[in-house]
Amino acid sequence: MVNKIILFIFMLLLMAGCTTNPPIKEAKGLQENIAVTDDGEVTFKIFNTANVPAERVDAVKKELTQAYNEIRQTIKTDYTPSKRINIHLLEGSEVSWGFKADIKLYGVRNGKDPLVHELTHTLLGYGVNNDSTRGYLTQEGLAVYMENRFGKQKSPVHKVMKLFLNLGKAIPLNKLIDLDNDDRLFSPAIIGPDGFAIQVMSYYHAASFVTYLIDTYGLDNFEKIYNKPMLSEKFAEVYGKNVDELEGEWLSYIDKNYNEPEMEEKMKIENFYSLLSSIDSIDEQIFQR
Ligand SMILES: [Zn+2]
Repeated sequence: MVNKIILFIFMLLLMAGCTTNPPIKEAKGLQENIAVTDDGEVTFKIFNTANVPAERVDAVKKELTQAYNEIRQTIKTDYTPSKRINIHLLEGSEVSWGFKADIKLYGVRNGKDPLVHELTHTLLGYGVNNDSTRGYLTQEGLAVYMENRFGKQKSPVHKVMKLFLNLGKAIPLNKLIDLDNDDRLFSPAIIGPDGFAIQVMSYYHAASFVTYLIDTYGLDNFEKIYNKPMLSEKFAEVYGKNVDELEGEWLSYIDKNYNEPEMEEKMKIENFYSLLSSIDSIDEQIFQR
């Protein structure tokens, strides 16, 4: 009974609120889809196009502000992120994107969105102006590293790399950083089964290599090579080693310390078996040194 009285009073208040001040209520509704970072530098505006439940939107807001802090604390770049970033929550399982002022997130409904990965691109910069003029290796490698460390989509990158080694299918590092060649590895124009496999493999290589670099030589050194032009010169300058030397130590580290993913782990990786079945259709030349 007491509850009913409280409810009645509450409804009266609500109605009074509605009749006397409707614009404020509207403004409040809008504000619910905005998240501001703790330092006040960036405002995220969420477009719930997929119409996911309010709890999911709230979770995304929390993840955004938390990931913002984590990304900003991990490495510093000279890129200044956009003050306003639109976050589009979309239906389906297409590939998510992180642009300058827009992030398209698929899979939000079931928590399968790579929010930290895309936010890493958007906050730290990519190329000169969100492009591939400075390659893909450090940018995609770091994005997967960050998602693994702070995000929801965990990926056993070293174990998958070991599987590629066991198959005798490792893409040479100098091809992955070659600006004349890397588009067809990381971003092939025609995505048939082999194009898909090449792209996914390139991402795994980048992620495993960058994770190795960070774990072995630290974030301070990695910060000096992230999204930098002329990567092979940067390697020599920062690590005192050329591309082949770094590649050699990385691959022997993987070979010595890791096994292929267990069956259960493989089953959890999205599209893993379609990747495996497509690897043989890749042009052998890609793996040749
Ligand atoms: Zn990415």
